[in-house]
Amino acid sequence: MLRILLAEDNPTTQSLVSAIMEQMGFDLTIVDNGQAAVEFLEKEVVDLVLMDCQMPQMDGFKATAQLRAKGIETPVVALTANACEEDEEQCLAAGMNDFLSKPFRLSEMRAILQKWLAGKPQSVPFHVGDSDARG
Ligand SMILES: [Mg+2]
Repeated sequence: MLRILLAEDNPTTQSLVSAIMEQMGFDLTIVDNGQAAVEFLEKEVVDLVLMDCQMPQMDGFKATAQLRAKGIETPVVALTANACEEDEEQCLAAGMNDFLSKPFRLSEMRAILQKWLAGKPQSVPFHVGDSDARG
């Protein structure tokens, strides 16, 4: 089973991603700040990290930079509330691999999962119905 870590402090987005991952059959762990994400990834291996940019205690940029500094190269997809290019550049500069603007459509989340997980042993099922997903 593919493992995903979601670092996100917004309960609505947590619930939404949780529902998507359950439907897709992924093993999801949720933490609500960047510090907890770093601590988790120092001990556990996951296939993909979904990282909110703005979180209390430690934001997604700093958390990702810390992961990279520690040699943890797990792909990180930023969840950003702003679609502006400056944010995308900031994401890449911090060591994030990709980004998904909130609110995102299910089709957009699926595309991200396919992009980063398609080569993994368990292929991603893409039959989940599409609709607007906000949060
Ligand atoms: Mg947030």
